[in-house]
Amino acid sequence: MKGVAILGATGSIGASARAVLRQHPNRFHAVALTAHRNAGALRELVAELHPSLAVIADAPVPGDLPPGRTEWRSGRQALLDAATHPDADIVINALVGAAGLEPTLAALRAGKRVALANKESLVCGGPLVLEAARRGGGELTPVDSEHSAILQCLSGTRAEDVRRLVLTASGGPFRAWPLERIGAVTPADALRHPTWNMGSKVTIDSATLANKALEVIEAHFLFGVGYDRIEAVVHPQSIIHSMVETVDGSVLAQMGFPTMEIPVLYALTYPERLPYEARRYDPVAGGPLTFEAVDTARFPAFALGFQAGRAGGTAPAVFNAANEVAVAEFLAGRCTFPCIAEAIADALDRWPNGPVDTLDDVLAADGWARRATNDFLNQLAPCS
Ligand code: NDP
Repeated sequence: MKGVAILGATGSIGASARAVLRQHPNRFHAVALTAHRNAGALRELVAELHPSLAVIADAPVPGDLPPGRTEWRSGRQALLDAATHPDADIVINALVGAAGLEPTLAALRAGKRVALANKESLVCGGPLVLEAARRGGGELTPVDSEHSAILQCLSGTRAEDVRRLVLTASGGPFRAWPLERIGAVTPADALRHPTWNMGSKVTIDSATLANKALEVIEAHFLFGVGYDRIEAVVHPQSIIHSMVETVDGSVLAQMGFPTMEIPVLYALTYPERLPYEARRYDPVAGGPLTFEAVDTARFPAFALGFQAGRAGGTAPAVFNAANEVAVAEFLAGRCTFPCIAEAIADALDRWPNGPVDTLDDVLAADGWARRATNDFLNQLAPCS
């Protein structure tokens, strides 16, 4: 029986993790669950999964809790304590944004397996995350479906035999929209993802393809592959979750109907597999599989993120923070969809890049980019 801490248990990946735990109650039990502010949803989860610890990261503990074995705590330190809970063998990091980095570092330093959905951890602090795993004896397994696919394709393949990684992208809701209409899209338009049902931030990132850039950077750190050997291709059906080409020209792909439950399960069981009941792939029902090049004129945030990855240092953290701020502003109706990429470009243009040696380097870049992006969006008349 493995103890599992779920950071961000009340979110979309949290729901997939709960489904996995439900199917395997004799293999996994929840030891810690966390939410940001949604105490109501966390209460329901606690009533079902009976963890030892429940954490509200940024709101008070509710005053009218029923008696039970669960200790309730609030605040940032409590979140870090959930990430390092002594009974947790595996920590699922399903937090959104750069806020996930410190819990990832803490869990890896404590020797945990981190099932990483929070791609921003690697984007912002890739070198620190790898170092924390090396020193603490922790281990990273990817939850992102693309990286789970690559991990599965790499099984039995030597690193030197890999020619390139090909990440697939659905292309989001605006893949085929006339370019002139994209300037006026609303948050509701952008939240209507064609193939995946996810939290709002990653759904907007999928519409701009910033998400694919974040995933390219994530793949670079996870698999130790250079940016010149990582590509992305649009695959609107989201059936092939990614591919690996080997030096002999073979291309390995991992497939299935879109669900995050299978990647979550694999991140928990890797390198083993457990039986699982989910909608099974039927090639006939699945229909034709098509592919298109990424159109960087349509998706400038993708190109910007790729450039930030190549630049290295704190540039990816700046890319991520600018994107987080601009996405929040777009969702709040305070800037247009194209302003997301414009704000990112402005921040990256003005940032004097430097190395990532310490967490403070990342936090300084992140803080600067948040301020710079807010200033940029406040000053830009067309976005207001
Ligand atoms: P959601 O928005 O659905 O859930 C986020 C969870 O994290 C919630 O439990 C939320 O709590 C909590 N949370 C948010 N911000 C903070 C914070 N600052 N401090 C502490 N807790 C916080 O997100 P998703 O589940 O969609 O995504 C989670 C991560 O997984 C992201 O990095 C995303 O890119 C990645 N991912 C998601 C996929 C998906 O299918 N959803 C697919 C692949 C990757 P509360 O409910 O209280 O707000």
